[in-house]
Amino acid sequence: MTARLPAGRARYGAIALVVVAAVAAGTWWWRPWADAAPKSLAFTTAPGGTERVGTGEHLYRYKVRAENGLKVTPAQFAAEVDAVLGDTRRGWAAGGQRSFQRVDADPVDFTVYLATPKSTDRICGQYGLDTGGWVNCAAGKQVVINLKRWQELSEFYTGKPELYHALAVNHEVGHIIGEGHVDCPGQGAPAPVMMQQIKGLHGCVPNGTPYAEDGTLITGPPVAASTATPVP
Ligand SMILES: [Zn+2]
Repeated sequence: MTARLPAGRARYGAIALVVVAAVAAGTWWWRPWADAAPKSLAFTTAPGGTERVGTGEHLYRYKVRAENGLKVTPAQFAAEVDAVLGDTRRGWAAGGQRSFQRVDADPVDFTVYLATPKSTDRICGQYGLDTGGWVNCAAGKQVVINLKRWQELSEFYTGKPELYHALAVNHEVGHIIGEGHVDCPGQGAPAPVMMQQIKGLHGCVPNGTPYAEDGTLITGPPVAASTATPVP
């Protein structure tokens, strides 16, 4: 003899089973921040794009996105990022090795985000980076600029937002193009953008661009730990 439930009850039982299964499954597959691109956060992509800048064969296509609800609009933020990456005299586009172009749709080589400290931590945290609510990061194909830093600047750049903004974008994009951390090359020298300047200038003077006016790369002795340990 087999136990049989009335048809109606069996149906409810089946529905309940499906619901329970979905909820249980959710505990392992529903991880919105595990996605490579933080689609679940509310960001808007700056519309339009730029011409290709720089003479370098290696073209980097990038998107710019700003978190929704900020006073800085995606277009305003993009204009600053474009100015930094479009600097063919002293930016990464100088030196004839790279060129950059902003687009507003995939495929891209990297995306530059302007994000609140909380969102910065969430995005960077996906990659195992601890931004502690106050620093920027570059990881995978994402460059995340922390709104707090963007507005409050860092201590050596007080009153010089343009210079700090250039430094922040050049440092993080520097990681994307494969540059590691370096140290100050000597007393009074311009601080390389790949220095973690937030930890101190070590005798160098503030600087926000990878190349000097005369086209030489502003760099310094490599920091060994930067190749092994991901640090923002
Ligand atoms: Zn760094």
